[in-house]
Amino acid sequence: MSSARLPIPAYRGRFAPSPSGQLHFGSLIAALGSYLQAKSSQGFWQVRIDDIDPPREVSGAAQDILQTLKAYGLKWDGEVSYQSQRNAAYENTLAWLDAQGLTYACACTRKIIKQRGGVSLNCCHDKQLHLAGNALRINLQKKAKVVDHFSDRLQGTVFLNNLEAKDDFIIKRKDGLYAYNLAVVVDDIEQGITEVVRGADLLDTTGKQISLYQLLNIQPPHYVHLPVAVTSPGQKLSKQNHALAIDKDNPIPTLIKALDFLGHKINNDVDTRSCATILQWATKNWSLDKIPRQREIQI
Ligand code: GLU
Repeated sequence: MSSARLPIPAYRGRFAPSPSGQLHFGSLIAALGSYLQAKSSQGFWQVRIDDIDPPREVSGAAQDILQTLKAYGLKWDGEVSYQSQRNAAYENTLAWLDAQGLTYACACTRKIIKQRGGVSLNCCHDKQLHLAGNALRINLQKKAKVVDHFSDRLQGTVFLNNLEAKDDFIIKRKDGLYAYNLAVVVDDIEQGITEVVRGADLLDTTGKQISLYQLLNIQPPHYVHLPVAVTSPGQKLSKQNHALAIDKDNPIPTLIKALDFLGHKINNDVDTRSCATILQWATKNWSLDKIPRQREIQI
């Protein structure tokens, strides 16, 4: 029997929801945009459940998110992965960073950080504190260059707040949980993600993630940050502000609305009787050039 192997797609994208609630219109935009960007590039689209923060997790949300994706015809490739099963990989990376002198413990409280405008000012850098009861920060001082801007395929050159760009960010929290910026980089590397497509609310974290790639000597993926749905300026739809879950039983109107939001208004001659035919049309007609180059769109 011949064992012809399927070619490995060059493009690998992902949707990485946190299971802190059901899928709402805002998260559908990230799911749909990342799906269409992958499928129009003949690529792989993976789903990863970012469940590294149990206190924020809502029981049953992960399952509900997967059922909603299915109801909208968004079929993922391969197995769904779960960050909660990846502790060994995060520990390995932390151990490697530690061996290079790239980490240190920090005792700053939330209150102190808030008083300093959200940055630590790297004040524990030389204190040689023990990790127990403290947060672990990355030591960016060893980097040759500060990541104060990056290139986004939709937003263009994105400039980052200089003070934040230089601030050693947390990679393991005081409560022992792995920080989002560490987990996302370790997993995107392991999954071979070539392009990250997500909401523009995560633009600020991208500089931190690129810094981590550089310290790990690994090429970062490309980035596409999609406009975020807001109810008023700065007020994004989120699970925290109780955005309504999207309708699983009648997905077509919401799918069409999401495509419209992304600058892909469906033509009158498209067969809109199923999510599959709509997605087929959208994959064929998908172009980053049609997406509004905004960070927020009011709905
Ligand atoms: N899990 C993150 C969230 O739901 C997104 C992670 C990412 O796309 O990098 O906000």
